[in-house]
Amino acid sequence: MNLWTFRIPTAVTFGEGAIRDLPRIAATLGQRPLLVADRDLVRLPLWARIQEILPGTPVFAEVTPDPTVGSVDALAAVVRDQRHDVAIAVGGGSAMDCAKAAACLAVGDLPSIRAVHSGGAPLGSARVPLIAVPTTAGTGSEVTPFAVLNDPETQRKGPIAGDALYPVHAVVDPELTYSLPRKVSVVTGLDALSHAIEGYWSRGHQPLCDLLAVEAARLICRHLRQAAKQPDDARARAAMSYAATLAGAAFQLPKNAMVHACSFPLSTRYHLPHGVACAFTLEEAIRFNAPVMGPRMTDFLRGIGLEDAEELIALVRELKQLGGLPCTLREAGIPPEVIPQLARESFHPLMNNNPRPMTESDLVAMYQRLA
Ligand code: ZN
Repeated sequence: MNLWTFRIPTAVTFGEGAIRDLPRIAATLGQRPLLVADRDLVRLPLWARIQEILPGTPVFAEVTPDPTVGSVDALAAVVRDQRHDVAIAVGGGSAMDCAKAAACLAVGDLPSIRAVHSGGAPLGSARVPLIAVPTTAGTGSEVTPFAVLNDPETQRKGPIAGDALYPVHAVVDPELTYSLPRKVSVVTGLDALSHAIEGYWSRGHQPLCDLLAVEAARLICRHLRQAAKQPDDARARAAMSYAATLAGAAFQLPKNAMVHACSFPLSTRYHLPHGVACAFTLEEAIRFNAPVMGPRMTDFLRGIGLEDAEELIALVRELKQLGGLPCTLREAGIPPEVIPQLARESFHPLMNNNPRPMTESDLVAMYQRLA
């Protein structure tokens, strides 16, 4: 067995009603909290519950989907100028990733997060402490040291990474997901499934992360269908929230592979939401990688209660159809002429984690099958 180190520095509080503990947790970290949310969230009924629990807390609600370097810079300026000493990010990956990056930028010397995202500047270790409160069961950002950011100026979308991006505390309350529409449930759930699968098959895989990955995938395969069909099924929602956090913990050290590498050009150029972009190549990736995984793939499939890779592929396809996700380039509104460009742009460094080496012609062939 190779040398490995496991850790998950984020404290996790989990359960129905967990958000009632937010004032106490925030008070242990700072005296001037700032709530961060995306624009759409503050219009939903669940926002009223957050405000009831944290009355009078200032709010930054300018986070857009696929957060830009500009929104990180704007949030960091607010944190700095108003001397906030703890941030509470409520939302999906966009709100959490934006707040995580801004909490670092707010205390460093860098003028813009672009210096890290495009310029390769180090992130530093200082940050305003951050509490992450996911309202979807997908990204796992509440326990990872990554923030996926978008830079419209440089047309670059991809993650930044650094220990300072780990939230200090994750408060995971499945009740926050009861009002998610079917499509969002499926999209975010398939992102979590991608994290479990990719963390497991990554070249950086390690035993404890494997355990988390198998359990996360098992729960998603068992409960995502029901969570999508019956949004207030408490058992299915709790299983999905737990699975998404587990999947985050499962890939945060091994990191993702080809599915996420391919997702970046699909999101940047063709505006597929992150989970849709990941789900788009997931079946092809399973079919491509499974043959080289040998007994490890057999163990994974047994662990999640499936017979073979084809059964997993069929389940992914069924879930995509249940959520109304695109299964072909045509359905995604992507013209076949751009296949060579898509293939070229899919070579994000995460591709190097793929268990089976992927060539440009392999990718072209994959996208032709998906046309
Ligand atoms: Zn993802």
